[in-house]
Amino acid sequence: MTLRPILIHPDPRLKKVADPIAEVSADIRKQADDMIETMYDAPGIGLAAPQVGILNRLIVMDAQRDPEAKPNPMVLINPEVIWESEEKNVYEEGCLSIPDQFAEVERPKMVRVRWLDVDGKTVEEEFDELWATCVQHEIDHLNGTLFIDYLKPLKRQMITRKMQKLKREMARGK
Ligand SMILES: [Zn+2]
Repeated sequence: MTLRPILIHPDPRLKKVADPIAEVSADIRKQADDMIETMYDAPGIGLAAPQVGILNRLIVMDAQRDPEAKPNPMVLINPEVIWESEEKNVYEEGCLSIPDQFAEVERPKMVRVRWLDVDGKTVEEEFDELWATCVQHEIDHLNGTLFIDYLKPLKRQMITRKMQKLKREMARGK
C-alpha cells in the first residue's frame, strides 16, 4: 500500500465533479487500499478520491470512535444518497484538505446511501449521526463541495486565507 499526498484547499481539483467508476477493477481496489492507509495515517474518519488528486467517485471511511475497536474501513464506489431525513443534525466538521479548521455544519441526521462495494456488488445502507455526516461530507467532495461552502462567506474567506498561508509555508519547507 502507498500513502498518497492529500491536496490542501484551495486546489482546483477539489472543486471538480468526479467521474463515475465504470468497472471495479484491480486498479480501483488498489486505489481504495491506498486511500484507507492514507486516511488512517492522517488520521481522519473519511477520505474522498479527489482529495488525493484522483477524480473518480470513490470514498473510504471509518467513523467508529471507540479506540479499542478493530479498524473497520468502508469503501463506497459511486455512492448516491437515495433518501435523507427531514430531521437535521449539527456536527463540528473538519477536513483533511483543510487542516486544523473546524466549523458547525447542519445536515440531514439520517441518510440512505446506495453504492458498489469492492466486489462490484450493489449495497444499500442507512447511516445515522456521525456516520451520516461523514458520508455526506465525503460524497460532497465527489461533487466539488467542501464543508466550508456551507459557511458564511466571511468565515469561508478567512479559512481560505489561512490555508493559502499554510500552503506558502509548506512550499517553503517549514
Ligand atoms: Zn473533507
